Amino acid sequence: MEERTGPIPGAATRSGRIDIAIAGGGLRATSVLRLLNDIENLSVLAVYDPSRSAPAMRLANDLGVFATTELTELYQIPELDLILDLSDDSAVQDALSEEKLSNIVIVTGSGAELVWDLLIAKKRSEEQEKIFVELQVAYDKIRSHERRLQSSKEALEKANEELESRLAEIFFTHEFFKALTTFSTIGDVTSLIVDGANGILGAEISAVYLFDHHDWTLRLHASQGRSDDVFVQVVPVSSTILGAAFREGFVQQSDVQPGSELATWSTRPHEIRSQAAVPLRSGDSVIGVLLIASATFRDLTHAERDRLQVIANQSSLALQNALLHEELARLSVTDRLTDLYNHGHVHQRLDEEMERCVRFDHQMSLIMLDIDNFKQFNDHYGHPKGDLVLKSLSLVIHENLREVDIAARYGGEEFVIVLPETDLAGAVAVAERIRAGMARNVQITGDEGEPVIQTISLGVASYPVHATSGAALIEAADQAMYRAKRAGKNQVVVAS
Ligand code: GH3
Ligand code: MG
Ligand code: MG
Repeated sequence: MEERTGPIPGAATRSGRIDIAIAGGGLRATSVLRLLNDIENLSVLAVYDPSRSAPAMRLANDLGVFATTELTELYQIPELDLILDLSDDSAVQDALSEEKLSNIVIVTGSGAELVWDLLIAKKRSEEQEKIFVELQVAYDKIRSHERRLQSSKEALEKANEELESRLAEIFFTHEFFKALTTFSTIGDVTSLIVDGANGILGAEISAVYLFDHHDWTLRLHASQGRSDDVFVQVVPVSSTILGAAFREGFVQQSDVQPGSELATWSTRPHEIRSQAAVPLRSGDSVIGVLLIASATFRDLTHAERDRLQVIANQSSLALQNALLHEELARLSVTDRLTDLYNHGHVHQRLDEEMERCVRFDHQMSLIMLDIDNFKQFNDHYGHPKGDLVLKSLSLVIHENLREVDIAARYGGEEFVIVLPETDLAGAVAVAERIRAGMARNVQITGDEGEPVIQTISLGVASYPVHATSGAALIEAADQAMYRAKRAGKNQVVVAS
């Protein structure tokens, strides 16, 4: 009784498909069965081996392929195309060769060897293909990892750069604020402010203008980013972005229109593209304006506007201190009534000038002057009116002096004027102009509104003609002045 397992073969054969039976159940047959089973358009319909426990027979059972121990059963499979002999058994080979089968191709001996080799080669190339695909996938993964790494590295670098610049800015700001508290002169503080605007905000151009309440103008005190001639020195509070900030507070212009009046703080306003100005305040009053500008477009961010405001606030405090400091220093050397220098200061300056003259062999002169019959004036018109005389005399003196001259109220109604680099003739001319100025001064009026002329007497002495020290120069001029008094007052007398 023949044994049969699996489905009846040939039932599902279709045209275009090759139906195969394998003779032999050894290990090679097992491999071939497995390999052929994976190939489309090929069907292994049966396996033959005399032993049912041969490996290929067992696999056939597992795969649901018909397995038989009778070789002749293979011939009966309908539409079988090919028998592949992998038995290595000459009896099987002979039996297959002897059988006259019209439609079935028998592949045995070296033909079977060839099929085996081809199948193995195919399997290798498939495996290689598979490995290649896997490599391709792995490579793509590596590339995408690499790209992700690269982009996160770039992001890291960028974050690092930003951090470093923020850190540098914080460090600079800290140093800036620290310096502000230690700087006490207006020049130092205003220079520091423009440097701060540059260091903290990267301002291409910055400038500090301070308010002058005498003529309601803004005066340049410090600038950075352009040469001095680019900045208009004195700007009325009614004009430019400086005036706008003075009147309205923070002003920003990202895109300055060509020909805009707001940029005419610059002598080359057409070169200004963007600008901002912020007032520097002391309490409710504006003491100056901080300006930043650039030749390229710049729109300040909210954070930058805040920083500019912070710079302005901190700077204002330091500036207030410096102004106060300078005002105190000025007051300590100034006479309140006449706004000229006081006695102490003129002595110090006289000594300095004398030292310079001796060292560089220069000339200098000194005028001593005193109001004529002032006691009488006070007695007649009263002290307040006498004070007005003192003030108007100081104005006359002021009008007739150069920037380098030093005028001081020496005593009650006595004045000293130091004239550096001035010879005797030059000093006499100055003295005469002041005397003449007082002799025609009509500022002071009497009780009926009539002008009251108050004359003065002056003495002039020169270095090195009359004296070689400051004290001796004063003494010589004083003597000359008394001689002017004795000679009838309202005149200039030269020291002897
Ligand atoms: P002479 O022509 O000789 O200088 O006569 P004189 O009256 O000016 O002489 P004297 O030096 O004796 O008088 C100085 C007067 O100047 C006395 C004082 O009343 C007045 N005087 C000094 N300081 C002030 C001041 O601050 N204000 C006013 N109003 N008068 C002053
Ligand atoms: Mg007098
Ligand atoms: Mg006097």
